[in-house]
Amino acid sequence: MGQEQSYITEDTPPLTLSDRSLAAVADLIKTGYARRIVVMTGAGISTAAGIPDFRSPETGLYANLAALNLPEPEAVFDLSFFQQNPKPFYVLARELYPGARYRPTVSHVFLALLARKGLLHMLFTQNIDCLERAAGVPADRIVEAHGSFATQRCIDCKVPFDGEVMRAFVARGEVPRCGQQQGQQQYQYQQPQQQRDDGASSAACGGLVKPDIVFFGEALPRAFFELMDMAKEADLILVMGTSLQVHPFAGLPNMADEQVPRVLFNLEEVGSFGTQADDVLVLGDCDGGVRQLADELGWREELEKTWRELVGDEEVERQMQGAKKRVAALHDEVNKLAVEVEEVLHIADDEDQRGAEHEGIHEENQRPPSPGLGGNAGDEREAPTTTTRPTAESRPEDNTNASGIGQAGNQNPSG
Ligand SMILES: [Zn+2]
Repeated sequence: MGQEQSYITEDTPPLTLSDRSLAAVADLIKTGYARRIVVMTGAGISTAAGIPDFRSPETGLYANLAALNLPEPEAVFDLSFFQQNPKPFYVLARELYPGARYRPTVSHVFLALLARKGLLHMLFTQNIDCLERAAGVPADRIVEAHGSFATQRCIDCKVPFDGEVMRAFVARGEVPRCGQQQGQQQYQYQQPQQQRDDGASSAACGGLVKPDIVFFGEALPRAFFELMDMAKEADLILVMGTSLQVHPFAGLPNMADEQVPRVLFNLEEVGSFGTQADDVLVLGDCDGGVRQLADELGWREELEKTWRELVGDEEVERQMQGAKKRVAALHDEVNKLAVEVEEVLHIADDEDQRGAEHEGIHEENQRPPSPGLGGNAGDEREAPTTTTRPTAESRPEDNTNASGIGQAGNQNPSG
């Protein structure tokens, strides 16, 4: 972020890939050159699962949180707010809790296939939804950089809290307290101890229990710092669905040597992508890009079958319908934009202008008719655009998009 970087041009030959395409990336994997694949994922990989961006006012989740009198949505991940009022967080937790509602996407399952084939060196995720685990990526191949719901502890004495008891609390929308897991084999709810007794034993101090999700101002998990150097060992880097805005996570794709190919699956260009000779940009939704790579690898059938077996026909249908809606919404957006641009350019009366070569338009107007998204809005889900050097318009300076719950740690100091 911030530094001036020079973007490679079409004339710059790649150092490792035969060309900057997914076919060439697939060749590296098929020939056994790429055997230590390091993956970085963010909120975009879970979009198709329906996980809402809690900042988005359209989601019902936001309305739920608003009803709980949050000063602002982010307060749900604020530790001092949590200490005063843990209820809003537990409303969110009930929604997001692993296994409660959301199911893995085809992108998550692709990562599980990588692991199954012994190719996944390490997966770094910003997401707290645990869908990588749910898809079958082994826990020891995952670094949850912003924590997750997988474990939890007392915020005061730090004693871990039982996972099954936690699940029961979350399902009932109740706030668990330290010590409430003791002697409750057939689980009966008891009132929390009225007051924290400072002299109480650490096993039952009555403090609030919180999943090990990184809240604002909290340090990233130790595992992140212990394992981040694994990104240096990569022979191929895949970055999926993250705006790469939150440090230190955002620095991971820059850790490997320059000749290590990097593939970006994202709606738009982010980070330093486009500055290295072996950067491949697959702009569009993650699932579409991943399917394209699976096609090139000859894994497509296995991928779809594994996904369907995992989530079931109904969920496959639901996610596919959702994707169609998102594409339709994007089409509307782009069409609107195109109309506006046409009006601005006073060329709306030229009926053939859409099909015409752009040279004429360029000469007259010095700018292309559809900035930004216009280039790949037609059929992005099944065939995302692969590009090496997007236009300046498609490089957002101030990207507040895709800043979902996975970025709860974004007030952490880097390092
Ligand atoms: Zn405690």
